[in-house]
Amino acid sequence: MTASADFCFPPPIPVGIPVQGTSSLFPVHRVYCVGRNYVEHAKEMGFTGREPPFFFLKPADAVVPVAEGATGRIPYPSLTHNLHHEVELVVAIGKGGRNIAAVDALAHVFGYAVGLDMTRRDLQGEMKKQGRPWCIGKAFDASAPIGPICQANQVPNIAQARIQLQVNGVVKQTSHISQLIWNISETIEHLSAAWELQPGDLIFTGTPEGVDAVGRGDTLVAQVDGLVTLTLQIA
Ligand code: MN
Repeated sequence: MTASADFCFPPPIPVGIPVQGTSSLFPVHRVYCVGRNYVEHAKEMGFTGREPPFFFLKPADAVVPVAEGATGRIPYPSLTHNLHHEVELVVAIGKGGRNIAAVDALAHVFGYAVGLDMTRRDLQGEMKKQGRPWCIGKAFDASAPIGPICQANQVPNIAQARIQLQVNGVVKQTSHISQLIWNISETIEHLSAAWELQPGDLIFTGTPEGVDAVGRGDTLVAQVDGLVTLTLQIA
């Protein structure tokens, strides 16, 4: 398959995320997400302990890049009455591979960004109860707003950074990346055992405690120390 192939209609252009301090865009390939990766969030969802990490995906075109200093806007999604925020550190993969050992994992990281794993919690809960896939709760349109990517060498202290989310000026989620059950390297090891990672993959690493509902008109400010702040309004 080449760019000059005779497609029956123009293929979609990948979503591009601004790379801080450059004029280039990071082309999104896949969006992986880790479930329940902070102890206190696992507890608030009714679980305890260090279970093996598990993963779900969002469509690459669910990513909504938000530029530095801008306020991104996503529509309140259909079918839900309980749209939740989940602030997350996002790892951007620059070098692919399979069966990547944790000790080698950081060499595969291009950079980091702040993301929101927006969740239709009522639909997710209903699917869980029925033992069905979560897609309708997690993988809907515009469900993955994300700020600019900072290159890894510019955020050497990411593993100790504070992560926080404010809604309308009130702190709703706050923790530290050091509280991840499975750290960045371990997450890459587990993920790359199940899928071959590719340049352009994103990994939403999980959310700390304090997830809650947001409504139309709410403004979310998501921060991880050292990264560009993500500001989002629900339209
Ligand atoms: Mn999440």
